[in-house]
Amino acid sequence: MFTQPGDAAGVEPDSSEGIRRVLTDIILDASANAPRSRQRRIGPSEVGDPCPRRLAYKLMDWPAANDGGDPWPSIVGTATHDWLADALERHNRERDPGRFLVEERVQVDDGAVSGYRLSGSCDAYDTRTHTVIDHKVVGESAMRKYKAEGVREQYRVQANLYGLGWENAGYRPETVALAFYPRGGMLGGLWVWTCEYDRQAALDALGRLGTIRDALVALDPEARPQMWSHLPAAASSACRFCPWWKPGSPDLAVGCPGALTPDQATSAA
Ligand code: SF4
Repeated sequence: MFTQPGDAAGVEPDSSEGIRRVLTDIILDASANAPRSRQRRIGPSEVGDPCPRRLAYKLMDWPAANDGGDPWPSIVGTATHDWLADALERHNRERDPGRFLVEERVQVDDGAVSGYRLSGSCDAYDTRTHTVIDHKVVGESAMRKYKAEGVREQYRVQANLYGLGWENAGYRPETVALAFYPRGGMLGGLWVWTCEYDRQAALDALGRLGTIRDALVALDPEARPQMWSHLPAAASSACRFCPWWKPGSPDLAVGCPGALTPDQATSAA
């Protein structure tokens, strides 16, 4: 018999619990099958990841060990991106024709620097100010941290990789901007970080990716799984979002233990 989402013994489908289960199941299913969840090739948002081992797993398209937990923050982020794209397109249509290039795909590397063809869809490019804009939807503690300590290097790399992509497409980016929107707050909490476009930062990140690629070729962890230990790890509280995090795993071919137990990861959230 076909089982409907949320079906469970003893739960009435029209009770609050029944409805909650149906909605949760539908959301989880849609999230697991969303294009972003199914994306297999490395993208600009991942290249600056501080953990070389995580990048290596990604480059090898290694089977994941961690489902990533509750997808709600990423669902809110994706929906917000869609809304912002519509708002910028509307601005182009109604107020300032052609000002913003929205969600356009740019070619960051044709393989000449990193050995990989790397492209990605950039949130926006302001043709008037020559600014790359990347939207980030973040929680309160992350917002506080970025304001106090500076933005994540991974974000800075991502923005400059898009800058390089625009440059490859014949534009002349001058500034890269990260627009941080509060996930649970008000528009008044929008905070924007900017810096001068740094081509070298993008090239260095691509060079690092190439070095990891070379290590993978030399170590061949697919044929020799014990070689995974030679790919250095940079464990942090971000391990809990790593698709290859498997707390306590003694076998890196199955998953990486990171440096966190599940309890530590929860308290670090
Ligand atoms: S679990 Fe942590 S240390 Fe291990 S690969 Fe993932 S990010 Fe790196």
